[in-house]
This record gives sequence, C-alpha cells and structure tokens, in this order.
Amino acid sequence: THFGFSNVPESEKESRVGAVFSSVAASYDRMNDLMSLGVHRLWKDHFVRSLNPGSALPARDCDTPNQQGGGWTILDIAGGTGDIAFRMLDHATNINHDLETRVTISDINGDMLAEGRKRSLDTPYYNTRRLSFVEANAEHMPHIASESVDLYTVVFGIRNFTDKQAALNEAFRVLKPGGVFACMEFSKVDNPLFDAVYKRWNFSAIPLIGQVVAGDRDSYQYLVESIERFPSQEEFRDMIQTAGFMIPGRGFENLTGGIAAIHKGIKP
Ligand code: SAM
Repeated sequence: THFGFSNVPESEKESRVGAVFSSVAASYDRMNDLMSLGVHRLWKDHFVRSLNPGSALPARDCDTPNQQGGGWTILDIAGGTGDIAFRMLDHATNINHDLETRVTISDINGDMLAEGRKRSLDTPYYNTRRLSFVEANAEHMPHIASESVDLYTVVFGIRNFTDKQAALNEAFRVLKPGGVFACMEFSKVDNPLFDAVYKRWNFSAIPLIGQVVAGDRDSYQYLVESIERFPSQEEFRDMIQTAGFMIPGRGFENLTGGIAAIHKGIKP
C-alpha cells in the first residue's frame, strides 16, 4: 500500500513500528532536518534548557545518598539515537559543571540503540558510568526500580506506543517523589490557517521526502498518520494527570504554533 498502515490491527502494530524505525535509523537526522526544516534542533535545545539537568535538585528526601552533589538519574525513553541524552549530559556538564548526572537511554528498537551507541563514540560519555543503554518496551520496564529516577524524558516517542497510558503509569512508578516527567511530541496546531498549510506539508511533502531521500514512502506516511492520531494538548495533559502526576500551570507549552508541545508532570 502507498498509504501507510492505518488499517493494521493493534496486535501487529508494534512490529510494524519496529520496522519503521529499523528502516530509518541511519538516515534519521537528515530526515528530521528535512521534515522539520531544521527546527527540531531548536525545539530539542529549548526542551533541555527548560529542564536544566544537573542543576541543584530541590530538597527532596535528603537522606537518600545521591541527593546533594550526586547528580541526576535520568531515564530517556525512546531515546533512540541519543539526541536528547547527549544534549542533557552536555548541559549538565557545561552549564551546571556537574559530572555526576547520568542518563540511561531506553528504546524498544535495537537498531536505533546501535545507532545511538555508535554516535556516543564521538562524545565524552562513551564507556563511562554517565551513559548506558537498555532495550525495553516503555509500557513495561520491570528491570527499572520504582522511585529510582529524577527525570523521565520521552521525545517524539510516545505517539508510537501502543498503550500510551501504560507508559505514563510506568513513568509514574519509576520516578522518585518530586521527580519530573517531561515529554515533547508533535501536537495540534492552534491556528486554522496555519493548520491547513501544515497539513498540506505533512500529507504531501513528507511522504515524498521519505520516498526520495530514504527510499521509503510507507514509513514516513506512517509517521504523518501517527502525528494526526495523537491526542490534543488538553487530552494528553489529562492522561498525564490520570497516571497520578501533578500538573504545573497549564501543563503544556506549544512550540511553533502547536506543531510540537512540551508536557510536564511532577510526581507528588
Ligand atoms: N528521542 C529520539 C529523538 O527525538 O531523536 C528518537 C525518537 S524516534 C522518532 C521514536 C523512537 O521511539 C524510536 O527509536 C522507536 O524505536 C521508539 N519506540 C517506539 N515504540 C516504543 C516503545 N513501546 N517503547 C520504547 N521505545 C519505543
């Protein structure tokens, strides 16, 4: 089919999503740049700056050993090629002079993780205790202890999950009290005129770019459809609340008119 796989039954969806990311792993950055006209880099920088990883942790449970000066324990879910993880470690190191903060990159797809591991060779974090990789489904992570994480990030990942609420519940479980859930994902454009232009771009240009650059129209058609199906800002905020999180302020920040949005929640 030339029209993605919106008719694929739920049971098969996970393996189809796996095939998409295996197929795009190597050309991933180039495609992101083309699809977002380079803007995804600015969004990612903004996302990381807003979290300020490695800054002094607000006093929580000061009895736990890794509090003062111990750095943050970060879990980057659907971390794929390491884009967000490396940025967070760079921020902790260069802005907060923190050499302790560590990130575990977790992804369901071994090919994306392999790409991330390869890229980590060019970072100072390769083979240090600050960076580790785990292959896991975000909906079920029994190997990650409850209340062990300071910051949980998921960037352009959750819309691909089969059971998003299950993933949010897992996020809640693994976070320490006071820990932060932060998600950046494609969302709903709030201006109707801009939305019309954006939809045209998504539904015509992106599959074409996928075909020409990656030789893979279906995978990119899938990406467009998954963006279309993802809940609105308000609906997604309610799902985060349902998982048990406290919602700061309005709960989300729109980027570029709502093409993407950052959602945050705090575990009470
Ligand atoms: N966070 C990275 C970034 O922004 O560049 C990668 C995002 S990539 C678009 C989406 C990732 O989600 C893929 O690496 C895919 O393997 C992963 N993924 C899809 N379903 C998943 C699941 N159920 N659990 C964990 N990761 C999943």
